[in-house]
Amino acid sequence: MIEFENVVKTYDNGHTAVSNLSFTAPTGKITVLVGPSGCGKTTTLRMINRLITETSGTIRLGGTATSQVDTISMRRNIGYVIQNAGLFPHRTIIDNVCTVPLLKKVEKSAARARALELLTLVGLDASYADRYPWQLSGGQQQRVGVARALAADPPYMLMDEPFSAVDPVVRKQLQDEFLRIQAEMAKTIVMVTHDIDEALRLGDQIVVLREGGNLAQIGSPEELLAQPANEFVADFLGESRGYHALSFASLDSARVRAVESVRIGEALRVRAGWVVVSNANGDVVGWVNAARQQGPVEIHDVHWSSAVNLREANLRRALDAALASPNHEAIVVDEFGALRGAVAVADIIQMSESRGH
Ligand code: ADP
Ligand code: MG
Repeated sequence: MIEFENVVKTYDNGHTAVSNLSFTAPTGKITVLVGPSGCGKTTTLRMINRLITETSGTIRLGGTATSQVDTISMRRNIGYVIQNAGLFPHRTIIDNVCTVPLLKKVEKSAARARALELLTLVGLDASYADRYPWQLSGGQQQRVGVARALAADPPYMLMDEPFSAVDPVVRKQLQDEFLRIQAEMAKTIVMVTHDIDEALRLGDQIVVLREGGNLAQIGSPEELLAQPANEFVADFLGESRGYHALSFASLDSARVRAVESVRIGEALRVRAGWVVVSNANGDVVGWVNAARQQGPVEIHDVHWSSAVNLREANLRRALDAALASPNHEAIVVDEFGALRGAVAVADIIQMSESRGH
């Protein structure tokens, strides 16, 4: 069980991202945090494993306040899955999956045997074990991310937009597999998504947040659909229809804005704004916050985000990528994977409106 009691997060710049939030994520169930862009979902999730510390209030894991226990050992009980999987690019698939068990001093052969079982569980056969992340598709990488999070058999799982980086067809497959695995494993899961359909499909319990991390409603999918607590929730539930229509409109190059970029290991040329990061192969992997960056960009500085392909992406895919990204802009690449720029949520919505959607 994970409990939030009157939790507040005010960032250093004075912005209150989460206001007096209380809810309980029950043991063995999936709790989904859903709400519009910037409403405080990621902040709420990252307070659970103390990647962000709360300003006030209490978060309890299994009855114990997280502020009272050793953060490092606590995190080993929490699987963490993020968009684009956040795999270590220089490690093979199996070594990625074994990361936490080896830290926990599990014997190497046992860790590898379990990793192979988990890869099978998420639908990847043994032939993937010795490949590197860049040799896998986005959907396959996401599966590895889930296997890695499960490897230490943690009682808790935190998932931040885990399926937002893949196209809707693969996303549906991943969701189905995830539900099948959860039926067996019964982890206590808190998942973040901006996609109300995903929330309704996966959640045993849904926590709807609005601007400033204020609770709009909490309930089962059936309860929300039958009785939205207020107009905000009703509107949010209703939005999904317009959102699907976006699948039929292609991404337009017109509003792609030029962005700064940097490779992992290099220093930034700018001091403010968000900069696109690519790996040693030149593949775009995510964003770094220039205002908070000190020294060369390291892997742990990267906010993993998937890029959308200008030629292939539709507006829904672009909107998903933008809503799931830390600065709410989707990274746009050409058909060869080369960086073209970024496009913001507001621009995507405007493009769709100008097409009559
Ligand atoms: P969501 O995941 O729902 O899109 P976030 O939790 O990432 O939202 O952000 C909530 C709000 O807090 C946003 O307005 C965002 O701009 C702001 N925010 C996030 N991180 C920081 C930070 N490090 N400093 C200041 N403001 C932040
Ligand atoms: Mg977020």
